[in-house]
Amino acid sequence: MASIKIENVQKAFGKTIAIDHLNLEIKDGEFFTFLGPSGCGKTTTLRMIAGFYYPTKGVVRFGDKDMTRVPPEKRNTGMVFQNYALFPHMTVFENVAFGLRVRKVSSSDLKGKVLDALRKVRLENYSDRQVSQLSGGQQQRVALARALVIEPEILLLDEPLSNLDAKLRDEMRAEILRLQRDYKITTIYVTHDQAEALSMSDRIAVFNFGVCHQVGTPAEIYNQPANDFVASFIGEINLLSVQVKSVQQENIVVTLENGEEPVKLIVHNHTNEGELIQQNEKNLAVSIRPEAIRILDTVEKGTNILKGKIESVQFFGSVVNVMVDVHNVLLRVDVLNTHEFGYFYQGKEVYVQLPEKQLRLIPVISGD
Ligand code: ATP
Repeated sequence: MASIKIENVQKAFGKTIAIDHLNLEIKDGEFFTFLGPSGCGKTTTLRMIAGFYYPTKGVVRFGDKDMTRVPPEKRNTGMVFQNYALFPHMTVFENVAFGLRVRKVSSSDLKGKVLDALRKVRLENYSDRQVSQLSGGQQQRVALARALVIEPEILLLDEPLSNLDAKLRDEMRAEILRLQRDYKITTIYVTHDQAEALSMSDRIAVFNFGVCHQVGTPAEIYNQPANDFVASFIGEINLLSVQVKSVQQENIVVTLENGEEPVKLIVHNHTNEGELIQQNEKNLAVSIRPEAIRILDTVEKGTNILKGKIESVQFFGSVVNVMVDVHNVLLRVDVLNTHEFGYFYQGKEVYVQLPEKQLRLIPVISGD
């Protein structure tokens, strides 16, 4: 079994707690991503799974087997490092063969396995080249072949695309997903790029300052962020400070904190929100994605329809970003480019609708 369990793990470097109270379960065959800003503990966690670091506290299991203090060469993991860590003056073949030689694979088996791995990453014609004569994308493929050739149960990828240009990154994303599906290999992917995480992963863990804030599918993380950190780290979002006025079975009534006469909003009572209020969370915000807000030409009947004035308009091709001032609160609204050019303009008076089911009440954990 190549499932991974991380049980109450902490890793300290002297006084720095790089990871704390981490509990994760990664399923067999899953493409699982560690996402978060620089220094949040993603690499440290990956290295504890590879065995390059041992946890200060807690247990790491593969299946039910305790691997916490098993050295890297005794774990069946393949790793791709951010800088590839290839041997520059060896040939492509020798780089890929390295792990097999360490494992004392017979030379007759070795050749077949190396060529097979090179074929999988489409580098079969490059086996005699020196690594230093390859492009960044090709080096990346060699690093992947080297990790895969040992037929690991677990593939660990540490920001593998960060040194590539945007076009190559797109190609390699698809390549990595194809390989992961072919090999059906449990994969952990480290990145600080939310678009990469959303588009590639079965599930994502979002980290900040050594703490895992949420684990979920890309849709769960995007649509139901656990708090304001997750909400604002993933994509664009409007976060509105509010006060809860009343809780009903279906809806929660809140008022916008805008320093003016209070503006009432109705938020659909998703189960999480009801619990939050029961727990007396004081610092709450309402979140809504820019594409979830509707701009109306005229006032219509319905809930959460507010009058506003367009502050600025930015054209991005498929999407137009319209900033609307609503009762002193600036809302970002992304609309599809289906209107005539010039339809939205600075100073135009409009109505916006915040659909109640698209509003989420979430705890605010970060200070100003
Ligand atoms: P990045 O995206 O920049 O690689 P990261 O999320 O992978 O960041 P880590 O490299 O895991 O973050 O680092 C987490 C914290 O632990 C940071 O504060 C870092 O400075 C610290 N840290 C990591 N490795 C060591 C080490 N070997 N010795 C001391 N401190 C370390």
